[in-house]
Amino acid sequence: MVESLCSMVKIKAIGPESHGEGEAERGKYLAALAKQIGFKSVEVLESVDTRVPTGKRPNIIVRMKGTTDRNLWVVTHMDTVPEGDVAAWKHPPFEPQVTKDKISGRGVEDNGQELIASLFGLSALLKAGIAPECNIGLVFVSDEEHGNTHGIDFLIDKGIFQEDDMAVVPDHGLPGGTGIAVVEKSIAWLEVDVVGRQTHASTPDKGVNAFEAAARFAVDAVESLRTKFPQQDPLFDNPRSTFEPTKCDSNGPNVNTIPGRQTFSFDFRVLPDYKLDDVMAELRGVADSVEKTTGARITVSWLQRADAAPKTDPGSEIVTRLTSAVESVRGTTPHPFGIGGGTCAAPFRKKGIESAVWSSSTETAHDANEYILIDDMVSDAQVYALLFAGKNIEKS
Ligand SMILES: [Zn+2]
Repeated sequence: MVESLCSMVKIKAIGPESHGEGEAERGKYLAALAKQIGFKSVEVLESVDTRVPTGKRPNIIVRMKGTTDRNLWVVTHMDTVPEGDVAAWKHPPFEPQVTKDKISGRGVEDNGQELIASLFGLSALLKAGIAPECNIGLVFVSDEEHGNTHGIDFLIDKGIFQEDDMAVVPDHGLPGGTGIAVVEKSIAWLEVDVVGRQTHASTPDKGVNAFEAAARFAVDAVESLRTKFPQQDPLFDNPRSTFEPTKCDSNGPNVNTIPGRQTFSFDFRVLPDYKLDDVMAELRGVADSVEKTTGARITVSWLQRADAAPKTDPGSEIVTRLTSAVESVRGTTPHPFGIGGGTCAAPFRKKGIESAVWSSSTETAHDANEYILIDDMVSDAQVYALLFAGKNIEKS
């Protein structure tokens, strides 16, 4: 496993948006590895993308037939983000380093560890001659770091997945594998443009102070939204919807001018029970009343919008199965939880596929000196093996 992960990390797989050449070479390596391990069904589905040298973005599906009709997918991604600031790394990021209990390198955690763990977890069944309970599909996708068009969305459009399938998306997790994420918040990033009228600071009545209007709007808006959308969900670390003014742009270099224009941003993370359209309607209402009292004009526009997918029930079959596999390996019961950002479980959940987001994580994804614990990788492979075998392990 260590050797396979290191060999994989040495082959860069960065998307064209980050000036990379895509996943073609890494995909070739992984397809060959799966065949070498002994898997008979290794399918490569390529999405056309003229921005990369090969013109194609590979997606790999390793299948093993089960003894029931249910399908269980584990979806990991082959692509990584770039290394970032190379000077912040203790070694070249694409030359992985193995120390006593760790492997470091770009992509070892996000998402290499789980890709390799799922592959070796399934290979344990192959070696032991145990058929999986469900039809297993290990899906290694491209393009996760830049919007999924050539990855999971491409496969969903091809009709690979069905509504009553189950999925594990191990692309987020807690140290020791202690949590299973079942729900995400909606994300709204907004830019606010407040236009007043510029004038000398000694004669404010001749102008309209855009900064003051922006400040009033920011405060009134978040107070009103926090009152209007008060619901709490204990699955989340922060149980409320969060409404935060964040970035504030410069409105000019000097102190003695009444600013005529002020722009700033909001970052909202909204519980999935609320609709972003309702949040926007409330925000617009506040903007209208601040416009009236100040004389400024307020425009609110989207920077990013991600409507949360429906929650996967913490009592659902996939969460229950995964929980008992983790209990057997780790001796502790993972708790269901919610996360503030989006994962690639969202397209699955929108399709009605129950999805558990879980892994044993060092929480160093995208960091310099990203690393994994070798024990985590092995434990997670054991969890996959038990999850895949299901009831069939008792028969063997
Ligand atoms: Zn990831």
